[in-house]
Amino acid sequence: MRSEDDAGRVPAEAGEVRREARAWIKEHLDPAMRLADWLEVLADSGWAAPSWPRRWHGKGLPPALAAAAQEELAAAGAPGPPAGLGIMLAGPTIIDHGTEEQKRRFLRPLLTGEHAWCQLFSEPGAGSDLASLATRARRDGEEFIVDGQKVWTSLAQVADYGMLLARTDPSAPKHHGISYFALGMGQPGVEVRPLRQMTGDSLFNEVFLSGARVAAGDLIGELNGGWAVARTTLAHERTSLGARVGGRRPFPSPAGSRLAGQREVTVAEFMARCRQRSPGRTSNADTSMVAAGAGPLIRLAADLGRDADPLVRQELARLHTICQINAWNGLRGRAAAEAGGPPGPEASLGKLMASQIARLWRETATLVCGPAAMLAGPDGPLDGQVALQALAAPGPAIYGGSDQIQRNVIGERVLGLPKEPDPSVGLPWRQLRAGPAGRGPAGGGREGGRS
Ligand SMILES: Cc1cc2nc3c(=O)[nH]c(=O)nc-3n(C[C@H](O)[C@H](O)[C@H](O)COP(=O)(O)OP(=O)(O)OC[C@H]3O[C@@H](n4cnc5c(N)ncnc54)[C@H](O)[C@@H]3O)c2cc1C
Repeated sequence: MRSEDDAGRVPAEAGEVRREARAWIKEHLDPAMRLADWLEVLADSGWAAPSWPRRWHGKGLPPALAAAAQEELAAAGAPGPPAGLGIMLAGPTIIDHGTEEQKRRFLRPLLTGEHAWCQLFSEPGAGSDLASLATRARRDGEEFIVDGQKVWTSLAQVADYGMLLARTDPSAPKHHGISYFALGMGQPGVEVRPLRQMTGDSLFNEVFLSGARVAAGDLIGELNGGWAVARTTLAHERTSLGARVGGRRPFPSPAGSRLAGQREVTVAEFMARCRQRSPGRTSNADTSMVAAGAGPLIRLAADLGRDADPLVRQELARLHTICQINAWNGLRGRAAAEAGGPPGPEASLGKLMASQIARLWRETATLVCGPAAMLAGPDGPLDGQVALQALAAPGPAIYGGSDQIQRNVIGERVLGLPKEPDPSVGLPWRQLRAGPAGRGPAGGGREGGRS
């Protein structure tokens, strides 16, 4: 994502970046500031998204140095930029594929928390085989009219914009007739229905699109060229989801929503709330507790007097080891990105390990706690996080492309195995056999599909 003009200004090493970030934080962080004001200062400084180009609110740093800068922010107790799919997926995608005007309009508000984003990709008949999606967008003057249904849409209930994939040419083969839009969520044609998860939360939703409107100027990338844009989003999704686990220091960030109820609080009040709140309650699954790796469970085992049990020790060591390997794999991916390429297939390794870590964390936590692991709420171990994580653990193996799809990607792109046969390639989408929802084709895979 670094642009040519950034190259000459990249500080040579992490120490220099850390010093620069620390000095900036010391000068600008004021605990009495409104959180909304702090987020604006942070966005305009380039430290909110240090890996983004300087022209677009970043510092043009390679990912490893950007991570070092963000660690300094966390260590100083400063709130980070709004967490969520805006900064993780929409921003990087718009930087790569958006027009200058779209970059001006969309990038800063997602760093300041004015705009939250959701990902309108999956449909009842198109998850792994994402390219078979059936939501239609028809041109109507200077707008497109959108009809269809999306599902699993995380945080759609608080999103201002959706990264929408819709079919704009049904006569083209399935990968070639898709376009990518920034869809305004707050309009009558968009109905969001929450889905209840077994954790008790309703973080994802069904989204019904009935005559929803999107301006032609909000088409991101080429008309019918949305698949290339979607691949950028999916690659960033795999990289981010894999990198989120494995002993990282949790980074306190406001929720990536409209900052409702948070805008007026001071930085100090916000950070105090973060310390009180059960960590991770607002995320889908691999929450900050799992992201922190084996550390919380090692401390819990010591508190409960379980750290002398050889079986417990063995599982804690196994969890620590796999988290450490994942962290090194993340560094390898970052090094590849620093060499100039976009996120590559090695990101699938991290994504696959993230789902393995979530399961292992659950098994180890329940081994440490015994029956008390079932206690939900603040009276349960780790403030109820053990019970919550046990219920949330299946999520990472599904979202962002399932484990099976990641293995397909690794087989094809890392090991060089032949592509999975797909009889639908080359056929017009409208001629394909109806899928589970009776509207689209079956077969494929989220990176030959959600791939
Ligand atoms: C917590 C959570 C949050 C999510 N958030 C979002 C979101 O915000 N936006 C969004 O667009 N989507 C979201 N998703 C959807 C997610 O991306 C899909 O669930 C996922 O891609 C799988 O699609 P599917 O559920 O349709 O399963 P299917 O594609 O029907 O797959 C069913 C099973 O078949 C296997 N399978 C399918 N194809 C192959 C193949 N070619 N080879 C081998 N095995 C195969 C799969 O691995 C899976 O086990 C979320 C999902 C979850 C669980």
